[in-house]
Amino acid sequence: MKRMNVTNNQEYNKVTVLVVGAGPAGLATAIKLKTLKPDIDVCIIEKAADLGNHNLSGAVLEAEPLHSLLDSAVPGWQDTDAAKDVLANKIDKDNIMFLLGKKLSFNIFFMIRLAKIFHLGFGQMIHKGDYSISISKLTKWLGQIAKDLGVEVLTGFAAEDIILDGDTNKAIGVKLVDQGLDKEGHKQPNYVEGETIEADFIVLAEGCDGLVTEKFVEKAGLQRQCHQLYSIGVKELIKVSPEQYNRFTASRVVHAMGYPIWTPVIGPGMFGGGIVYAGANDHLSVGMIVGADWKYHDFNPQDALTNFKNHRFVKQFIDGGEVVEAGAKMIPEGGFYAIPRDLQTGSIGKSNVMILGDSAGFVNMLKIKGLHNAIDSGIQAAKAIVETLDNPQQAAARYTDLVEKSNIMREMYSAKNFRQTVAQFGPLQGMPLSVLGRLLPKFKTEKDYEALTILNYRLKPNQNFDKDTFTAMAATEHREEQPSHLTILDKTICETKCTPKFKCPCIAFCPAGVYETIHDEVKPANPSNCLHCKTCQRKCPFDNIRWTVPEGTGGPRYKRM
Ligand code: SF4
Ligand code: SF4
Repeated sequence: MKRMNVTNNQEYNKVTVLVVGAGPAGLATAIKLKTLKPDIDVCIIEKAADLGNHNLSGAVLEAEPLHSLLDSAVPGWQDTDAAKDVLANKIDKDNIMFLLGKKLSFNIFFMIRLAKIFHLGFGQMIHKGDYSISISKLTKWLGQIAKDLGVEVLTGFAAEDIILDGDTNKAIGVKLVDQGLDKEGHKQPNYVEGETIEADFIVLAEGCDGLVTEKFVEKAGLQRQCHQLYSIGVKELIKVSPEQYNRFTASRVVHAMGYPIWTPVIGPGMFGGGIVYAGANDHLSVGMIVGADWKYHDFNPQDALTNFKNHRFVKQFIDGGEVVEAGAKMIPEGGFYAIPRDLQTGSIGKSNVMILGDSAGFVNMLKIKGLHNAIDSGIQAAKAIVETLDNPQQAAARYTDLVEKSNIMREMYSAKNFRQTVAQFGPLQGMPLSVLGRLLPKFKTEKDYEALTILNYRLKPNQNFDKDTFTAMAATEHREEQPSHLTILDKTICETKCTPKFKCPCIAFCPAGVYETIHDEVKPANPSNCLHCKTCQRKCPFDNIRWTVPEGTGGPRYKRM
């Protein structure tokens, strides 16, 4: 039951702190821990083959928590090449565009300014002074800092479950995925049983809809006041001409609403919008983020991305450019009411287990940002661990105390009704109504998949989106000879209910073309193309798909997203 780290022949079957997920939240925990208590042993496990490979985001970074983290950990960090590279694009020009039809565009940023003057929630949507970054690069950089401080960062280690002590509810450890099974589940010569790494403290920082986190929420009886609501983001990194890049400028971010996902009265009526962010060296990130409570059975966020890229306002900056990377992910949008908590104590976690970042749902939808809260939650988790070293079962309670007093909860509280209001009334009524903010009651929302109808997306592009190229640009890979990590629970539902009514929406919405109909049967035919976005688990209209973790190292390989 001992796993050897091949790089240093060290055994990891028991550690003081085990962090699941080497994203910004998990790495912030580890870095802060090593800053506060250099002799503590901290291990991070990450399912991706390399740091940053599974990290994709907008991404606009509000840098204050990063400064707070690194000022004490790495003297002079701002002068390092890595810091200059990651923070190269400081935002000076902030556009909020309303797109009407395929050609018209209006900069409505003045409305955000007015909202700020009148202390309305939308006033938070100002990004000047923030950074437009590659989250993948940020993760690689923070990972290297963590390693330099003595943290064991183990990539290619996929976790599948958390083991609890039935008597005390304390978590014992985290079970890793078995490696070396064939497609039918038979052991191969290279078989390695997924053992359990034990730990005094367990930090769940897996990102959105984490498998271990959701198992823990269920096993430990944590509850959310409202269902988590998700959105799906699809994004491309495009190399444009120097003239286009200079016209856009290296310090600009654009957030767009309206076409092609929302038009007043005539529809379509979906929540979300497009983004164009400046990257480094003539690269622009272009993406589309759509609330997963869309109702169109044939909709695919990539179709909306195609329309967005063809809008006159966007096209001027990217026409003729080359897509060099692409990817997809989900974002937790439910906010304050969707934070998983212990019913009795209100803890965001339980006993010696803490839930961080996107796994907890710390995304502020009024800012459309969560990265700063993820890093901040890592800082608070580290402080809580150091304060409860002699009594790990108090860690989740102390972590929650610290989070409640931090800027994270101030933000989450300020935006607490926003997404539920839009889900309840739709963008046309919900957005204006949401300015009433905290005065509004908590609206009950349906799960994202329950919103699907037989309506068509009326702006479907003429040509099908090229999912093969998109997947190739995500450089996704899995060992072919392993059990599929995607399961359709009941195939008769696909045949007798879904096909006649909705025409198999998983085939349309999966961004990687994983689902196909073969001999009249819908199958996850290409699991090795999977981008780990988990859309299928949250959008199958009959809740008929389960996503589990494949062997470690599988999945996309983002480098600059
Ligand atoms: Fe429909 Fe879900 Fe079956 Fe796909 S897996 S055909 S979405 S029921
Ligand atoms: Fe995303 Fe599911 Fe498709 Fe994988 S199979 S890319 S998780 S929708």
